[in-house]
Amino acid sequence: MTKEFIRTLDSQGRISLPKELRQALCLDYGDSVSFAYFDGTVTMHLKEKCPSPECYVCKSPEREIRVGGKDICPSCLEKAIELIA
Ligand SMILES: [Zn+2]
Repeated sequence: MTKEFIRTLDSQGRISLPKELRQALCLDYGDSVSFAYFDGTVTMHLKEKCPSPECYVCKSPEREIRVGGKDICPSCLEKAIELIA
């Protein structure tokens, strides 16, 4: 089923992607996308594939948060916090 999203350009020609779409495409702040225009149709392409459903650091299937488009598990998050504390 096709789902349509309508957005209004701001004064600088920008639009925001709906949260539902960003989540479905695993897009996060800083991720890149490209647009192609052909014969009246615009297609958006993701520069990176949706990350696999696992911790980016230890590959555990458990995920806690997303940082820079990467999923981190609770254990790795705790270790990272200890490193910066
Ligand atoms: Zn981990």
